[in-house]
Amino acid sequence: MSNFFYNVSIAIPLRQAFTYHSENQIQLGTRVAVRFGAKLKLGIILEEINHDGIQTKPIDQVLDDEPIFSATELDILGWASDYYHHPIGEVCNSFLPTSLRNVKTAMNIDAPLVTADIDIKVFTKILSDQQTNAVKFLLKLQGFSPTLLYGVTGSGKTEVYLRCIQEQLLKHKSVLLMAPEISLTPQLELRLKEQFGDLVGLYHSKMTPAKRYKVWKKFRSGETRVLIGTRSAAMMSAPNLGLIIVDEEHDASYKQHEGFKFSARDLAIKRAQILKIPIILGSATPSLRTLRSVEEKNFGIIKLTKRITKQNPPKFSILDINETTLTSGLAPQAIEAIATTLHQNKQAMIFINRRGFAPQFICANCDWRATCNSCESSLVFHHHQDRLICHRCDSAFGVPTHCPGCSAEQLSFIGTGTEQLEITLQELFPNTHIYRMDKDSTKKANSMEHLLNTIRDSQSSILIGTQMLIKGHDFPNLELVVAIDVDQGVTSLHPGAIEEMGQQLIQVAGRAGRADGNALVLVQSRYSEDKNLLQLKQGNYLNFAHSIMIERKALNQPPYAFEAIIKASSPTSQTNLDFLQKLKATVDSKHCMLVGPIPSMQAKLRGSYQHQLVLQAPSRVHLNSMLRTLIQTLSENKKSNKVRWSVNVDPVEF
Ligand code: ADP
Ligand code: ZN
Ligand code: ZN
Repeated sequence: MSNFFYNVSIAIPLRQAFTYHSENQIQLGTRVAVRFGAKLKLGIILEEINHDGIQTKPIDQVLDDEPIFSATELDILGWASDYYHHPIGEVCNSFLPTSLRNVKTAMNIDAPLVTADIDIKVFTKILSDQQTNAVKFLLKLQGFSPTLLYGVTGSGKTEVYLRCIQEQLLKHKSVLLMAPEISLTPQLELRLKEQFGDLVGLYHSKMTPAKRYKVWKKFRSGETRVLIGTRSAAMMSAPNLGLIIVDEEHDASYKQHEGFKFSARDLAIKRAQILKIPIILGSATPSLRTLRSVEEKNFGIIKLTKRITKQNPPKFSILDINETTLTSGLAPQAIEAIATTLHQNKQAMIFINRRGFAPQFICANCDWRATCNSCESSLVFHHHQDRLICHRCDSAFGVPTHCPGCSAEQLSFIGTGTEQLEITLQELFPNTHIYRMDKDSTKKANSMEHLLNTIRDSQSSILIGTQMLIKGHDFPNLELVVAIDVDQGVTSLHPGAIEEMGQQLIQVAGRAGRADGNALVLVQSRYSEDKNLLQLKQGNYLNFAHSIMIERKALNQPPYAFEAIIKASSPTSQTNLDFLQKLKATVDSKHCMLVGPIPSMQAKLRGSYQHQLVLQAPSRVHLNSMLRTLIQTLSENKKSNKVRWSVNVDPVEF
């Protein structure tokens, strides 16, 4: 009796596949149950191999009648495992619906629908000349042709997407539309459903596993033809995928920070390449990486440079706050501007990236500072809970009345967070509605949507928000934006920080002045002569980005270099340092730069110290070959057990 031999991926953190045999032929990509140690585990058939002699265990059970991953999908997953240097079993597992991550449930999926012709609703909006031009350009794309749709805020990118989607539907194809955050999906869903009705589906991680499984099945059968989804939707199967759109392609939320640290944007691009289909990357503030690909003619570009309303974009003004006394972070000129805006029956927004009341609690008598025991980060005072909270691990502590260091009663809060601004502004403008939007005020399901609708319908009011408020939302009455903590971005040594700061300022400005063209963005800074800020002040993101790119090119920094981080985590600093030092000594860094070991940005997390090596290489090939050597060394090193280590390719956070 002859056997078939298969390499099977199993969801465990080991960097290999395992060989099993079966008397029957099994299709690649099928889910199976296999014995691993004493346990029955879920596996995916990756490839058939010629096997001679070595003893293998049998495959216990074939779980489904058909493969869960197609051949091309397996190619993409294989690519992802190589590219991110992450175990294949975990890569495969992260794209299975939760309901199917066990050996008990069979995937009873519906047969693919014979797609009937769809009813096309007439579009109600007449496209602008630029939109028409963009649609014409995008509809001509064939095969793998990644294209940046650069459209200033309010230029009507969504309307362009809609026409491209319709074209695919007419060709009986499906479309995947990716959004970086769940909060951005309701407005896309609304607009798409208006046009395409029940053909539209939604998929994200806040939905219940049962709901997600249902959506997964419908997209797979072709009942749902347009899927809007976040990161976790990047690999959703469709019978005939014709187009992928990545909205707000620059957004750091496309990158997963834990476990399998992949970028959904990059995975989507790879998927389009393997499927040989077009992919549209939309943004008003494209990432430098995308702009580099455009520069090298690997990506096409089409531009929407005008707002639909033909309104002037908001003006930027930089407010030097060096000689200024601030009230909860606000300069007197800013408070005056807010008063004027409210007086005109318009809205003002304060953009601040710190939630809570005050970011520090300190003693004026000794050097005591409230910090989290297990993360060493400053505790943030939250007024509503009356607690000091760690923003890394969410631990909460009571607020002492006397200094734990010296018993003095000289404790005080330092700095400003969203809660404090809310209280101060309410005192300054007692008859004004104030809406605060941060992680704390939008915890409940739908609270974010509700808040957004209330803000849109309100007249004169003040909005206070972290970066979650500035993404993609449309506030018709917003006339003034005050940005109060951009200096961290200006002074940061990390090359990604200035890019993000620029994107945030342009995006926040984009929320304003949609109704008339007199909007103003006040940027408070201690570095008002900073050349990047001055460049941004012109309001042209592409010019800002290009001037940074010229510098980066000269310095061989990203996007003209490729990066990865190897992170070590253990209960003592010294263990990490020894571990990384030794690792560093094993590589020949002729082509690459190796920086470190240095403490990670989160130097301590949940009781463990974190250190890292930063690798920078002139090409992807060099980066990969160095990573492979390092990982080989790590896997052979028994001491690795004491330290938890991970690899992060193309990190966006340091
Ligand atoms: P972007 O995503 O580029 O910032 P949106 O797609 O949100 O812009 O469009 C901005 C606003 O303009 C939306 O309210 C949209 O409905 C409207 N809009 C877009 N295109 C047109 C058009 N051709 N005619 C009229 N209104 C339009
Ligand atoms: Zn003290
Ligand atoms: Zn903590």
